Amino acid sequence: MGAGSTMERIARGIGPIILLGSPGAGKGTQAKRIAERYGIPQISTGDILREHVQRGTELGAQAKDVMARGDLVPDELMYGMMAWRLRQVDCERGFILDGFPRTPAQAGWLDAFLEHEFFENQHRGQCLPIVIRIDVDYNQLLRRLTGRRSCPVCGRIYNIYSQPPRVADACDVDGSRLVIRNDDREEVIRERLTAYELQTRPVAEYYECKGRLVSVNGDLPVDEVTAQIVRLIENHRVDAADGS
Ligand code: AMP
Repeated sequence: MGAGSTMERIARGIGPIILLGSPGAGKGTQAKRIAERYGIPQISTGDILREHVQRGTELGAQAKDVMARGDLVPDELMYGMMAWRLRQVDCERGFILDGFPRTPAQAGWLDAFLEHEFFENQHRGQCLPIVIRIDVDYNQLLRRLTGRRSCPVCGRIYNIYSQPPRVADACDVDGSRLVIRNDDREEVIRERLTAYELQTRPVAEYYECKGRLVSVNGDLPVDEVTAQIVRLIENHRVDAADGS
């Protein structure tokens, strides 16, 4: 399989990419990079929910307290939100999911959705989702999460230890004063890690049983993690195309 044909297939459609990893594993950062590289949307359920809370929509009102506690928003609310988002035209060539699915029930829902509503076209064989888990050491996770700061205006994320802004406490892009997200406070972090252990680990097992899980070492520097992910995506697309 030559490099030219690999690139043609990638241009035609990259398909769904699912990123798994506990809070702080770097899903958001990596998803953004992959989305830019392949020109596909990054769909972060956490960001969409926070936007609903900020806009004061009905969904936002239902999700607000659950999120502040560090619990998971009920599946039924997530399904409506995701179905709407995945039907948007920008998802046609593929998309990268960051934060969804978070439970085996959500994974089952997504499989059914992709099966019945999505990619019912000639490129179907190339559209099997690739599921990539970013593995990070527990102590590193705690450090990353307690160091996380975000810009309330543009949403950019920093880390005071590993990716500090140029000027302390100020966003590089628009100069806004950086904040600690409500759910990045230490007591909430423990809740989120527990919720991850209890509910999300089975998602990885769900995909592992289907032979669709691959993992990368998230302890490495950010660029190296990106390089590992890109390799997996491009090999996966070649494999999928070969198999169709
Ligand atoms: P995140 O930014 O991905 O850590 O998400 C922040 C919060 O949004 C989580 O702690 C949950 O309360 C909620 N959330 C995000 N994605 C999901 C999901 N797939 N299912 C349920 N709740 C979610």
